[in-house]
Amino acid sequence: MSSLSVPAPAAPAEHLDAAELRSMVQHDQMVSVRQSVRAAIPINAVLTLAALLMAYSGDKLALGLLWALLSALVNVSRAVVCRLPYRRPHEPASDAAAPSARWWRTRGVHWHLRLTSLLGLCSGLVWALVALLCDAYTSPQTLFYLTVVCGITAGSVTYGIAYARVPIMFITPALLSVAGCLLVAGGFDRQMLAVMVFVYLAALIRSAMQSEAAFKRGSLLKNEATVLADRLRQAHEASHAATRELEFRANHDPLTRLFNRDGFAEVARWRLEAAQEHEQCLLMLDLDGFKAINDMFGHGVGDRVLQDVGAWLGRELAPLGAVVGRWGGDEFVVLYDTSTAALSPEDVARLLTQRVAQASALEGGQLGLSVGLCVGRGLCVTDMLAFADEALYSAKRSGGDGFRFFDHGLQQALVVRRDVERDLGLGLDTGGIVLWYQPIFTAGGQLHSFEALLRWLHPRHGWVSPEQVVHAAAATGRARRLLAHVLTQVCEAARRLDAAGLAHLPLAVNVSPREMAHLEVDELVLETLRAHAVSPHRLQIEITEEVALNAENTHGKLARLAAAGVAISIDDFGVGYSSLASLRGEHVRQVKIDRSFISGLDGSRDNQLLVRTILQMARSLGIDAVAEGVERAEELMTLRTLECPLVQGYHLRRPAPLEEIIQQP
Ligand code: C2E
Ligand code: CA
Ligand code: CA
Repeated sequence: MSSLSVPAPAAPAEHLDAAELRSMVQHDQMVSVRQSVRAAIPINAVLTLAALLMAYSGDKLALGLLWALLSALVNVSRAVVCRLPYRRPHEPASDAAAPSARWWRTRGVHWHLRLTSLLGLCSGLVWALVALLCDAYTSPQTLFYLTVVCGITAGSVTYGIAYARVPIMFITPALLSVAGCLLVAGGFDRQMLAVMVFVYLAALIRSAMQSEAAFKRGSLLKNEATVLADRLRQAHEASHAATRELEFRANHDPLTRLFNRDGFAEVARWRLEAAQEHEQCLLMLDLDGFKAINDMFGHGVGDRVLQDVGAWLGRELAPLGAVVGRWGGDEFVVLYDTSTAALSPEDVARLLTQRVAQASALEGGQLGLSVGLCVGRGLCVTDMLAFADEALYSAKRSGGDGFRFFDHGLQQALVVRRDVERDLGLGLDTGGIVLWYQPIFTAGGQLHSFEALLRWLHPRHGWVSPEQVVHAAAATGRARRLLAHVLTQVCEAARRLDAAGLAHLPLAVNVSPREMAHLEVDELVLETLRAHAVSPHRLQIEITEEVALNAENTHGKLARLAAAGVAISIDDFGVGYSSLASLRGEHVRQVKIDRSFISGLDGSRDNQLLVRTILQMARSLGIDAVAEGVERAEELMTLRTLECPLVQGYHLRRPAPLEEIIQQP
């Protein structure tokens, strides 16, 4: 994930780039110069016309016309130059404009200012030529021309405050010609006047330069303020963006960019409150087979699968106006308003499960989707989530890769589940949660060992399945306590079996994948055995193939147990993801062939073949094999002909309390 970039505070004014500011000031000068030239041209034209009239009255029409033509030419050029495009600060040297415009654009502000100054000089020279119209300021019209030239020069300085060079270039030739002519004409008063014109010229030049300096100062301050305001705005926007990003991260899952638990719950709560009278559907989705992908191909591939599924869900469900979130791990949640959607909840669930299966099959994968749905009106988000979760749990239990609605039956199951979770602590404390034992026999009918199985007669709901007890313990944070309870009971059973003369018989304890992954099983087992002075050789741990495969997390624990002498047994063998790989670990001492191969074994050639193969494999690896779930005499007979060394099942003996077993071994 990209790291969060917190915006730097706005730089103080002295850290502004001087060159950048200079070019901004120049740009302001350019704009102002053009404005002043545009304002001066009409005045210039009117005065030219007046001078032409005066020339006519002084019998110099031809000369006057020529001069006025020249003046007009210069004025037109100045007007045209004022409209030429130029390259603004930060603008690249060329762009897609017309070729001619492009050429002018290659010229910066400074170049254009100089061009304007040059044309100012031309205009000044034209006004210097006024001397020709009044016989070098000696004709009777002299006063008029003198006043006009002085006026126009004063005006140009007044207007041209931004860039002194333009008015200076204009006024200098005009006034120098006046002063020069007056000097040449001679006489005290004319010479005094010439001196005054020089003084006037100097004053105007000084004034023009002061105006420019003041203009630049003002422009600099304005631009500094603009740049600072700009930076502040940018900083403000960046901090806003950072806040938005932080908010996004608080409510979204970084991997899939979907809502996370908190984000989903909040949006769902808001939606449900806003449309209480509408029927809503909450779907809880769980990928089947994802764990195997993670284990076999690594977390990188697993993450990519989750990203793809998340993106696909977002796309697929967008037309329903659904809120989609990642609930954690490989679980996703979806909420949509069924009253406004074109698809029924059943259609949505079917579509999703089918598409995942199809897409996965195309890629040669084995990914599936289980869906739990809760449809209702006026429900709160917490209940909807709990109900959909219950439905999902049920869908998973019945094999996965399908969907299940939360219905009356599940509602009952949920009540039971909640009661079981609530009463579990009490069951552990008061000894309500006990172990029953199912014997395992040799082919010849000799007692070989026992499997310890959890039993709980719940005061209200009757017998609760061991899976439910284990699930409730995990859900209520009592997993370690339950395992410790089981191990203690097994150790006590071992002591009682010793006392009953059955000292040689091992006891097997089931450890779920979750317990194996999350608890320090090795420590707990060895500690309990020590505390009860029971030999580790007396104990077997039954784990599933999934656990055996997930070596990363459990290898050390299994190795320590095996090294201490505890036998590791692979339970439900043959139905897991990769049976052979699970046998690779050097710690495995036994496989328990899953009940599904044994049931109806006598009538199934295929199962006989598979069982025979497993038995051969176990023999060649030097490990024991147990056939589980033997319910009929025919199955037992078949197992005997297949030379299965160990058997377990209702046909031989059902699980029973220890006292019963001891009384009737
Ligand atoms: P499992 O390890 O496969 O245990 C064998 C299950 O098959 C037991 O069910 C047993 O009562 C049943 N069974 C035995 N013989 C037959 C038969 O001939 N036919 C049929 N249909 N079933 C037979 P149970 O006691 O309900 O346990 C279910 C599962 O709960 C166990 O399956 C085991 O995975 C889990 N479990 C039981 N006790 C514990 C425990 O202490 N800790 C953990 N983590 N899991 C346990
Ligand atoms: Ca077992
Ligand atoms: Ca089993």
